[in-house]
Amino acid sequence: KNLKKYFPKKKGLLGGNKSYVKAVDDVSFTIRKGETLGLVGESGCGKSTTGRMLMKLLDPTEGQILFEGQDITGLSDNQIRTIRKEFQMVFQDPYASLNPRMKVGEIIEEPLIVHGYPKEKRQERVLHLLEVVGLSAYHADRYPHEFSGGQRQRVGIARALAVNPKLIIADEPVSALDVSIQSQILNLLKDLQEEFELTYLFIAHDLSVVEHISDRVGVMYLGKIVELTDKETLYKEPLHPYTKALLSAVPIPNPRLKRERILLKGDIPSPSNPPSGCTFHTRCPFATEECSKKVPKLKEIAKGHFVSCHLY
Ligand code: SF4
Ligand code: MG
Repeated sequence: KNLKKYFPKKKGLLGGNKSYVKAVDDVSFTIRKGETLGLVGESGCGKSTTGRMLMKLLDPTEGQILFEGQDITGLSDNQIRTIRKEFQMVFQDPYASLNPRMKVGEIIEEPLIVHGYPKEKRQERVLHLLEVVGLSAYHADRYPHEFSGGQRQRVGIARALAVNPKLIIADEPVSALDVSIQSQILNLLKDLQEEFELTYLFIAHDLSVVEHISDRVGVMYLGKIVELTDKETLYKEPLHPYTKALLSAVPIPNPRLKRERILLKGDIPSPSNPPSGCTFHTRCPFATEECSKKVPKLKEIAKGHFVSCHLY
């Protein structure tokens, strides 16, 4: 609810007023039980920062995080311990997030130890988790460097599942993998969601990755959500010019349905110095004078379809 994360900027030589990089700037959304909410945007749009705040890895500057109705924003590590295991994270780079000196079995066992899982049952649990993600007992005694990228991500997923979480925040879990492996991991995540009644926040930088896995999708630009709706609507009738531009870059199988390609002018501006008014106006093909002056609000223009653009 109204989440903000402002990072203080390094001061110049002359000091001066404190200024901030608005990495996440007033973001609100709900993740419904059992769904996958995709969160999409170019690098630097604040999607990972949002995920890290939900995981309590970063404290928000402002705003609230509610989990099953409980405000967990201000809770200390100690207070949050009991609900901590309900949400787990899967990271983009499975290699960087796996300790190279630990055997894979130990990596998966670690959260079980942290959360007090009975010692005599841990080994059995680890073997079960390996099977659940398509690996086997053979892999337990190996080190991460002996694994392929896809296998390492399976280990990362097994570790996230170890303590039976309800919510998994997956931050670009397939971005570092070969395209041929991506769909295997996406299918695995989908199967696991059904089997264990998981809820996902799935972060990605392009719309093609989240299309098959998401129920709803939010599009972020420079720290804000610019459009949020169910998947069918977003892919068929995108409204925000930025969503349209992102979608026009996604290849579609039937060339006769080809969308008109919308090319954006220039690069994404720095979040440390965002444009005035609608922060997308410097790149938007539909921008009018109003756009550089007035900040558009995220409005619900049809049931469950939120857009922030003066055109609507
Ligand atoms: Fe483009 Fe203006 Fe809409 Fe922003 S408010 S997306 S600049 S038309
Ligand atoms: Mg990121």
